Amino acid sequence: MARKQIVVDKKYDVIVCGGGTSGIAAAIAAARGGASTLLIERVGALGGQLSFSGPPGFAFAHLFNPRGEQDAAGIIEEIHARMLKEGHALPHLKPEHRLEGGYTFSYVDPDWFSITIFEMMEEEGVELLLHSLVVDVVQDGDKVTGVVAENTNGTMIISGKIIIDCTGEGDVAVRAGAPYEYVDKQTVQPHTLSFTMDGVNWKELLDWIHKNPEQLAWFEHVLPHWPDERKETAHQKALEFYRTCDDPKLFGEFMGFTSFHKKGLETGEWHKFSGIGFFLIPREDGHVQAHMQHSSQVPEVLTDDAWDITKGEIECRRQNAIALKFFRKYIPGFENAYLTRMCPELRLREGRRIMGDYKLTKNDIAAGQEFDDVIGKSHFKAGAHHTVDQNTIAQVAKVCPQDDGSYDIPYRCLVPLKVENMLIAGKHVSTDRDAYLRYLHQTMVTGQAAGAAAALCVKRGISPRALEKRVGELQRILKQQGAIIDGTH
Ligand SMILES: Cc1cc2nc3c(=O)[nH]c(=O)nc-3n(C[C@H](O)[C@H](O)[C@H](O)COP(=O)(O)OP(=O)(O)OC[C@H]3O[C@@H](n4cnc5c(N)ncnc54)[C@H](O)[C@@H]3O)c2cc1C
Repeated sequence: MARKQIVVDKKYDVIVCGGGTSGIAAAIAAARGGASTLLIERVGALGGQLSFSGPPGFAFAHLFNPRGEQDAAGIIEEIHARMLKEGHALPHLKPEHRLEGGYTFSYVDPDWFSITIFEMMEEEGVELLLHSLVVDVVQDGDKVTGVVAENTNGTMIISGKIIIDCTGEGDVAVRAGAPYEYVDKQTVQPHTLSFTMDGVNWKELLDWIHKNPEQLAWFEHVLPHWPDERKETAHQKALEFYRTCDDPKLFGEFMGFTSFHKKGLETGEWHKFSGIGFFLIPREDGHVQAHMQHSSQVPEVLTDDAWDITKGEIECRRQNAIALKFFRKYIPGFENAYLTRMCPELRLREGRRIMGDYKLTKNDIAAGQEFDDVIGKSHFKAGAHHTVDQNTIAQVAKVCPQDDGSYDIPYRCLVPLKVENMLIAGKHVSTDRDAYLRYLHQTMVTGQAAGAAAALCVKRGISPRALEKRVGELQRILKQQGAIIDGTH
């Protein structure tokens, strides 16, 4: 029997495809701009890699550059402040020994994040269509006029004036004919399946760290990147911190456990795909859980091949089973810890980048580049590609912005080549490989800008490409919404 085809009567101003961090920021900003907004999401949850297959280890993080200036705000700051007030987030933490790389932590509870977002969608009047996969676009020449979604009802055709692709992989933009870049199988960064453990005896763990601070990866991996003149002071400060800190929340992350790791490799009780370490998830009443996002790493998986992704899902579960046993047997404080959450699907670290009217580059990041069409900022380094090896975290070929400041993200990175009436936001915006804007705070910055831009285009009756010449109005709106557009260079 043929699939039922359903043409939805309502024509939306803005259709957001994908409800991850970029998609929810886009939908909120579009609705605030007065646009009738529909958000279509493949699964039943909102938050993407933050809630469904996450959270990322540093979540939220990097909202402050190494000089301590906040460079990412707007909707991300608003959500963090709201969750902090409700007891579902930790305050902005700025551990001195991590600030050199701009590592600040502003953790949120991933499950409460998803609940908060559902509340906000209702407050903002965003319509939701969940359990629906966008499989194609409707086009009139190079203009996109709607999307095709598959769900239990059948094949839905939904019209929209501006379509925003927030799928993380650029699936919708590719269907519309936008060009993209991707790496090959040997080069692609590994993907991960994350899990969470509760029942950790934090006192036992911290007692061990107080006595064995140099077993943490910070000394091996972070310290070498400090400038020579500040290295010794940083070393001493970090030693003092790890010897005395009694609050796990202030650590942000725990990586290394080098002697256990070495032993595990010798006895075959640890696998060769990653190092040992974990991050934190804040829960109610100050409780924290350990969140493992690097305990499995799968190489040679291209995200535009479902066979590859399937292989990755199988392999990561095999590695996580090894890691779970190892943590309980060897890591101090984990003897009675137990698994509370194995994420339902792989977190995809490196996918396609859609090419737009500007391609942000590694050189732009190194220069802390300013752009006239700035829509947001970041200080996160270029490069830093993860590899499958026995390190816990990526340290290769990093380039940080000069003078410890931030760089601008231009609006043109959100406007895909060869397609009209479409915007892109999230980790697949237009950059070279090294400048990949895949960090969560970056996806919310580009999401908010795309949503505000889409609403403005509808109001003015112009295309996203035409808005490039009138970007001042967009910048004013973003500033009113709390985004950071000026300074921090
Ligand atoms: C292992 C790992 C560790 C990381 N660690 C950090 C970290 O420490 N700090 C940090 O800031 N970032 C980290 N990141 C990066 C960050 O988590 C992600 O890049 C970011 O969350 C991506 O957001 P997004 O909105 O672009 O995409 P996603 O969160 O992937 O959202 C895309 C959404 O679109 C939906 N979707 C996809 N296709 C369709 C379709 N065709 N139709 C409808 N819906 C669709 C998906 O279901 C999903 O909900 C990490 C990533 C990985 C993989």
